Parts: sequence; structure tokens; C-alpha cells
Amino acid sequence: MANQDNILVEISDATKIFGGLTAVDHVSFNIAHGQLKSIIGPNGAGKSTMLNLLTGVLKLSKGEIVFKGTPISGLEAYQVASLGMARTFQNVQLFNNMTVLENVMVGRHSRTRQGILSSALRMPWQIKEERAIVKDSLQKLDIVGLVDRAGDLSASLPFGQQRLLEVARALASEPSMILLDEPASGLSSHETEALGELLKNIAADGVTVVLVDHDMQFVMEISDEILVLDHGERISEGTPAEVQDDPKVIAAYLGEEA
Ligand code: ADP
Ligand code: MG
Repeated sequence: MANQDNILVEISDATKIFGGLTAVDHVSFNIAHGQLKSIIGPNGAGKSTMLNLLTGVLKLSKGEIVFKGTPISGLEAYQVASLGMARTFQNVQLFNNMTVLENVMVGRHSRTRQGILSSALRMPWQIKEERAIVKDSLQKLDIVGLVDRAGDLSASLPFGQQRLLEVARALASEPSMILLDEPASGLSSHETEALGELLKNIAADGVTVVLVDHDMQFVMEISDEILVLDHGERISEGTPAEVQDDPKVIAAYLGEEA
């Protein structure tokens, strides 16, 4: 599917060992530019570990990950982030004492010369930069449908909207790739549908989306390609239709129910 020029991330033989447990076991796959790629699998399959390896939060025990031509295995998470990766967390992590807009501005921070909340003595370039940050941040809020709530405290948003706010904050750093761990968990079916539409739109705008999810139904409708992990191993990969009919995938999910 992805030709060589179109590869954004190349994962080769990725392995992560925790003590005696191999959480990710010799996994290789590619992520194409602008693709919506999902990583699914039963609980404990190694999905979150894979995502943490991709973002540099965890170090590989073996193998290599190359992002935009740069091997990232020796880099710290903040260095990987500055190459253009942004993520959301399995548990929502917002600043509750800040407004919706400020939470997005924090995500923008890494790209600017000044700390947005720090400087008391403002130079003209700082004022100009701050106006640009506000404008860009409002635009990200517009994308996720929260621009009307910009001035409210983030804690006042219902849970589903807090999830959307996290997506807006991730987008604020203008990433090439955004990674989301179980973003639909705890959402109603209506909210899940809206989130799916949002993720499709983000990918259509050229930002690569990597979605980790337990729920095969959710990813089936929105993904370009799906990688399936089970016990740390890559058991299947392909279009939603391909993995859905793969006997190995069916067996892994049935095994979980049993
Ligand atoms: P998933 O996200 O697919 O549910 P995880 O990647 O969280 O799975 O976990 C994969 C396996 O690795 C599980 O057996 C889990 O208990 C183990 N694991 C994950 N993180 C750690 C850690 N920091 N230390 C030890 N074991 C871990
Ligand atoms: Mg997980």
C-alpha cells in the first residue's frame, strides 16, 4: 500500500522486554504519511507499549524506529516530540485550573521562543507572538468544535469534550503525526462517532494519525490500515476488511472473551 517515499515511520524488529515479560515482540511495520493507522488487539497485547516506544517514552530493548528519516531510539521523549509527534494519554491529562484556550496554548508552547505564561516584561515581538498563539489555538479549538468554550475552565467540560480538548492541544504543536491511546474509552456512542469523524478529518488534512484501541468496531470504520497485536506479536496487518476476516484475529479476540 505505502510506497517507499511515502513512509513517515519505519518500525523494524521493535522489541520491549520488562523483566521477564516481552511486551512487544519483534514487531515490524510502516506508517505512511497522512494515513490513519490503528493498532488494535486484546488487553495486554502491547498496544500502549508500542505507542510509548513510538513516542520515545519507553526505550526499545531491541530494534529501531525511524521517524522522518531520523532514528529515534537514542532520543528522549521531548526530542521525539520536537521532531513532530504529539500524543494524547489513556487518562485525560489537562490543566484543570486553566481555561480551555490556555490548555491549547500550552501545547503550542514548545514551538515558540518564550514561555507563554512567564514573561512579565513584554517586548513587542512577544506581544505579536502571543497574539499569533491565541489565533492558532482558537483555530485548533474550532477544528474540534470547542471554540465556544474557549474561556471556560477545562474542568467544567464534560468528559467527552475534555478528550476533544486533548486532541486540540496535541494539534497545537503542528505535528506531522498525532498518536492517541484509547481515545474512545468512556465516550458515548454519539461522542465516539464524532471523534471518529474528527480523526478522519485530521488525517485528510495531512496529519498522520496513529490510533490505539481495544474496540475493533470503532477503528473498523475510520482506519486506512490496521495492525493487530496479540501477546506482543504482530499477528495481522491490512485494511479493515482484511484484518476483520483474518482467522488469527478472530481467534485472538475470541480467546479474550473466553
Ligand atoms: P495494551 O495496551 O495492549 O493493553 P500494554 O502495552 O499496556 O498492553 O501491556 C503489554 C504487557 O506489558 C502487559 O502484560 C503489561 O502488564 C506489561 N507491561 C506494560 N507496561 C509495563 C511496565 N512498565 N512494567 C512491566 N510490565 C509492563
Ligand atoms: Mg493500553
